[in-house]
Amino acid sequence: MTDHLPLDPGLVEALTADSDPYLSCDDCFEETDVAVEAVLGTDDGRHERFSEAFRVHLLRCPACHDEARSLAELVAAEFGLTPAEATARLEAELARAA
Ligand SMILES: [Zn+2]
Repeated sequence: MTDHLPLDPGLVEALTADSDPYLSCDDCFEETDVAVEAVLGTDDGRHERFSEAFRVHLLRCPACHDEARSLAELVAAEFGLTPAEATARLEAELARAA
């Protein structure tokens, strides 16, 4: 019989490496308005991408993801988008392969 194995260092390293590049929720929140507006951008198909750290954080953090979606809905009209279009663009950017 075996007890639960302690986490071996290799596994810990793999798990933490998986969350690189790391962004805290506070850092993420600071970036949210600029990042969301950059992704909504203009309607000529040219818009900024999320930074990898921001994108990874949103994929892993439901709270910040919700915050970004709420903001996208809030500012959608400024970019000539409906709230649904704005969140769709946000999701498309998040789903984009790195
Ligand atoms: Zn977060």
